[in-house]
This record gives sequence, structure tokens and C-alpha cells, in this order.
Amino acid sequence: MYMKQKKKSLFSLLLALMMMAGLMQGMTVETKAATNSVQAGPFTLSRDSGAIVEGVDYTYGKYESGNRNSLTILTDDITIAMDENAEPTSDIIELGEFNNLPLDSFSKVTFSNLKMKSYYNNIYSNVDHIHITLVGSNELVSIKEKSETYGGYAIFGHGSVTIENSPYGSLYATGDGLGWGAISVSEGYGKSDACITVGDAMSMKSSTTLMADISELTDTPQVWRDYIGAGKNYMDIKSAKTLLIGMWKHSHTWSYALDESKDGSRILATCSGLGDCNEKDASLWLSLSAENTDYDGTAKAANITISEDWKRLNLPVPEIVYYLSGTDTKTNSDNSGAEAVGGAPKLPGSYKAQVTVGTDTKATKEFTITCKHGEWVETVSDSYLKTAATCTAPAVYYKSCKLCGAKGTETFTSGNPLGHDFSNNAEVCRREGCNEKNPDYKPATPVIIEGAGGEWTKESGATLRFRSDAGISSFLRVEVDGTVVDAKNYMVTEGSTIVTFTAEYLESLATGKHTVAIVSSISGEEKKATAEFTVAKKADTTSGNSTPNTEQTTAQKTKALKTGDESPVGYLLALLALCGAAVVFTGKKGYLK
Ligand SMILES: [Zn+2]
Ligand SMILES: [Zn+2]
Ligand SMILES: [Zn+2]
Repeated sequence: MYMKQKKKSLFSLLLALMMMAGLMQGMTVETKAATNSVQAGPFTLSRDSGAIVEGVDYTYGKYESGNRNSLTILTDDITIAMDENAEPTSDIIELGEFNNLPLDSFSKVTFSNLKMKSYYNNIYSNVDHIHITLVGSNELVSIKEKSETYGGYAIFGHGSVTIENSPYGSLYATGDGLGWGAISVSEGYGKSDACITVGDAMSMKSSTTLMADISELTDTPQVWRDYIGAGKNYMDIKSAKTLLIGMWKHSHTWSYALDESKDGSRILATCSGLGDCNEKDASLWLSLSAENTDYDGTAKAANITISEDWKRLNLPVPEIVYYLSGTDTKTNSDNSGAEAVGGAPKLPGSYKAQVTVGTDTKATKEFTITCKHGEWVETVSDSYLKTAATCTAPAVYYKSCKLCGAKGTETFTSGNPLGHDFSNNAEVCRREGCNEKNPDYKPATPVIIEGAGGEWTKESGATLRFRSDAGISSFLRVEVDGTVVDAKNYMVTEGSTIVTFTAEYLESLATGKHTVAIVSSISGEEKKATAEFTVAKKADTTSGNSTPNTEQTTAQKTKALKTGDESPVGYLLALLALCGAAVVFTGKKGYLK
């Protein structure tokens, strides 16, 4: 019983261990998949995007000759890395497969801390043009197996080889492949223009001996088409058997920022270039200053001051651009007297000087130009006008500053009063706002505008009306043939003054011509609008019927129209009256109210 129990426990423990091992294995695989990273011998292969699949992106295995393994890269953008502290490997790397032409076409690979040491070519490229980026310290050593042979290459290409500008990496390479040094390409395998390129920011040092120490690398070699050497020309083959590429040549990349402690008037520069900058301690500043000044008619410019180091390093000294204070409006000749748009201002005012360094770092400085207004002068100009001249008062102007032209508060008069405008027998002055009466005003005589020449027939029972163009408020009385007519004999209605005689009164008049006068008071004088009319005998009729009243009225109106025809105004007024339209006159000089 006890034994059985123990056996069972042991079995359970083993099962648990197996499960844990399986779980751990699963976790490891998961981690690798997440980083797109795989291990191939001493190499870790990784790529930012996309999984790396053996047989598709690379192969790793025994090389066809010798006792060594080969990593063959088949696709783009793979980083081949070794542990920084790893021992050198005798494996080799092939970029692309050596097979029938054309050469493989992928083009980018990154070497990270590779340490390779063997009798063979360390890197063997079968790619049309491989671009190698270096990360960390890469060491490719192809040593000789036998002293009498040339030995292999550190990098050999059937196609072109470019070492890219690599701010974070370097390559130490040594080899004497067929006497051409550590790195070479060959046109012998179908690419007749195969060549070597080294990025222009990568420095090179070399030695003509194999396995030279860094301190022994004193030559500065050149890249010839298919090899790298320190000779004076292509044929002067002093092959770089040991080569160090990529002591990164720092280049300054200036970044600008406002100096927070200086009110936005000072700009600081710092180098953001890759690698170590030898100007880290330089004092790099540009300062904008501007004085508040008195106006004197000359342009007032701001000043730029730069540090010695700013000058020595030839950092940009921009143009100063001027704006009206608090706006994005550049100065110009109208708003500030500046001679050019954005130029230094002359006129009194508040301004902002501004400089822009780099893409968008702006320093600004506010300043003012003030006029002391030493002398006020009397200058007649619309811009200084306080009140224009009137009938009785001359124009009033503000005094202005002799220097800057600013408008003051004291005033002066200029010129004479305009005098009243009584032209064309105006009743009052025609100027706006003046009601002065014209002492020489001659009131015009009103006229009969309707009813003149009218005819009235005895026993017709009709009325007869006359219309004066004088306002009804000025009506005094009516006269017929020079005799005042009793007011009971007519009716006065407005429009302008309409007098309608009663039939009874008309019946009292003798047949024949009569004169009617509508008397009005015009500007205190009695004025008469006169017209003639006829009282006719009753016509002899066979039927004995009298003419209806309505027809009489119509006949008279027609007559009135005909009379009016003689003067256009009368005609118009008559027509308007017929239409029943309201006639309104607003002019002061008319009689119609
Ligand atoms: Zn720098
Ligand atoms: Zn002034
Ligand atoms: Zn007036």
C-alpha cells in the first residue's frame, strides 16, 4: 500500500515536470514570435516587421566544402546579430544563393556585433547590390591557412557592395583575398560594373598588413572600383589588408530654441547631430535688442548680437523683420514710414522686431518710437479738421506736431464763413442746417391749376370748382369780378386749395365771362390766383330734358384737362388729381403743403 502510494506520487511529479517543461517551451516560442527573431547557430536573426521563416528567409547548415556551417540570407531587411561578448565564429554568411544568373535581388542587410574568424571568405555576396548597415563593432577576420596562399576575403561580392552611413556601427575587416585586400568585388560572375561604395560620413583607416592593430592603421585608403587600397592610383595596388570603416564623422545638426530666461529675445543653439560633438561646450546664442527712442524722422532698427562661437561656427544671422506691436502686420511706408515692407520703422508707434532661425524659432523684441511734440503748428488739412466752415463761422482745425504731424488738442480757424445761400429766390438759406430767412425773398403769385376757363350752364344744378396751388392754410377769401364772395356760397377743401361754388350762387351770376380770384396770404402778402369762367344760358332742347349734373361735372373736368395741357405742370397735377393720387410737396419754397 505504501509503495503503491509512493510510485503514484513519483508519477504525478514527473507528469507535472513534463507539463511545466512543455509550458516553458511554449512560452519561449511565443517570445521569439513576438520579436520576429530566430536563432541560427551563433546568429540571431531579426526583422522589424514580418516573421522570419527558415527555408524562406534564410537557411542554416553545413557548407558544401570544409567543416563549417553557412548562414544564407534570402530576403530583405534582416539584421544578423551576435552577442557582444561572444567568441568569434568560424561560420560563414552568404547573402543570396550562388546559382544561375541573374544575381539575387534583395538589397538590404544589417550586421550587428558580428565576430567572424575563419580561413574562408567571411561574407560572400551573391546579390546584385547589397547595402550593408553596421551596428556596434563588427570584426571580420579571414586568416590564412597556409602562409604561401593569398587567403580569403572579409567581404567578397559577385555584385556591388555598399557600406551605408552607419552612425552606430563600425567594421574592422582583415583579409588578403587574391592580393586585393579585405573587401573586394568581382565582375567575373556576370555583373561587369560591380563596385564598392562606402558612405561619405564613414571614415576609413587602413594598413597593408594583415591583422594589424587599430593603432597601426595609419593609411587613409581610397575606394577604387573593385577594391580598397592606399595607392596613388588604381594600378598602385596597396591593398587595404586591414581596414577600419566607420569611425563616425560627426556632422553638426543645429537645433534652435528660445532662451526661456531672456523674455523671448534670445535664441540658443545646440548640436543634435549623431555621435559625439566636439562643440558641446560652445556658447551659442543670438540676442535681439531694441531701444525705445525719440522720434527724429530716421529709421529705428533693432540689433542682433551673437556669441563668438556662433560667429566662429558660421551659424545663421537672419534678417530682422518689423511688425506693428501686437499684430502680424508688417511695417510699411503707410503704417510706420518703413522704406520696405517689414523694414525698420520711422514714425512714432509701438513695434515688434523679430528674427527667425532654423525652421521656426523666433526671437522678438518690443520697442517704441515716441515724439516729444516740441512745436505745434497750424496746418490746414482734412485730417486735422474739427468742424467745417458754416454760413456764419469759418472752418476749425486742430494744431499738429511740426515734427511728426500728430493731431493736437488746440484749435485754430482758417478761411472765411461760407455766407448764406439765398440763390434762386430761396425763402430760407439753402445750406444744410441753416434756417436763415432770405431778406430779399419775393413771394411768387399762386395760380389756378384746375378749373380755369370752366363753363357753367344755368339751371344745370351743378357746382363749379377751382383749384389754387397755394396751401390751404394760407387761404383768405374768394373774390368774383373783384367782389368778395360770402363764404356761404362756396366750400373750401384741401388740395392745395379747392374752392367749390354752390349752384345757388352760380345761378345768381349773369351769363357771360367772370373772373374768380382765390386770395391767399403768401409770406404775409395777399396774393391772388385768378382765372376766368363762363356762365352760359340754358341750351334749347327739343326733348326738354336738362343735362344731368354728372355730365356737367365731367365736361368741366375735361375742360380743365385741356386748359392744363397748355402748361406741363398743370397737366400733370390735373392728371394726378384725376387719378385720385395724393400729391405731397416737401420743398420749403413750394406753396403746396
Ligand atoms: Zn555637433
Ligand atoms: Zn510729434
Ligand atoms: Zn445760411
